Amino acid sequence: MIAISDLLFRYPEGEFELNVPELEVAAGETVAVIGPSGSGKTTLLHLMAGIRLPQKGTVVTDEVEVTGLDDGARRDFRIRRIGMVFQEFELLEYLTVLDNILLPYRINGSLKLDGSVRERAVSIAEQVGIADKLNRLSTRLSHGEKQRVAVCRALIAEPVLLLADEPTGNLDPTNTLKVLDILLDAAEATGATLVTVTHDHDLLPRFDRSIDVMDLIDIKHDQGPTLPDSEHISSGPQITQIDADRGKENE
Ligand code: ADP
Ligand code: MG
Repeated sequence: MIAISDLLFRYPEGEFELNVPELEVAAGETVAVIGPSGSGKTTLLHLMAGIRLPQKGTVVTDEVEVTGLDDGARRDFRIRRIGMVFQEFELLEYLTVLDNILLPYRINGSLKLDGSVRERAVSIAEQVGIADKLNRLSTRLSHGEKQRVAVCRALIAEPVLLLADEPTGNLDPTNTLKVLDILLDAAEATGATLVTVTHDHDLLPRFDRSIDVMDLIDIKHDQGPTLPDSEHISSGPQITQIDADRGKENE
């Protein structure tokens, strides 16, 4: 499902360098990605999704060499095939919870938004316990509620690959287990591959396999101290602005 080889990635600014000689994830596998803050977990997920492109090497996802696609094709591939739960949620502030969940259908013409999709959106929202907030603007939600909206949006288009970046990071123990079950059940029901970043080591036995980024990569050692995740100054994934603009166009 995912094959990375000889990958080298650097952000345009900063010293961070991610070097992944080899990584394979089989179709249908459920994988937990672990590693300290700043080790490159989010970067790795964005490379798998084709949100970022490496300077060297190849990323093949769902038999498509994403590193060989142009911007438009990569974006199209991502929306149709990948469900991504962003660490910072990346919800659109001017949309309601329901419209945030339905976003993949608003921004990709090949996904048809019909009654059954809306029903599925409501049903997933019920499962994660946010069905009573579907008509609320996403700005008027707690962190934990935003996180669950982000999970719903990742699942709505029944992706072949689910990439979840600390999807339970803001949740209480009950909701953590609920969301984990939903992700694992969704992957099992559709045969999707699931890659989840987590700091919660109690959850690891639930996955087929764990990947420690520190074992995987070859990080430069002169990058300075790593920061806690909440202190990251990130320019954010490129998807957000483009998708926000498209979302507006379709309103
Ligand atoms: P993790 O998810 O494991 O906490 P990240 O993948 O977010 O780590 O970040 C890896 C490293 O890259 C960190 O040192 C971080 O500061 C740096 N970094 C993250 N985003 C950017 C960016 N947009 N520009 C420059 N450096 C970045
Ligand atoms: Mg991260």
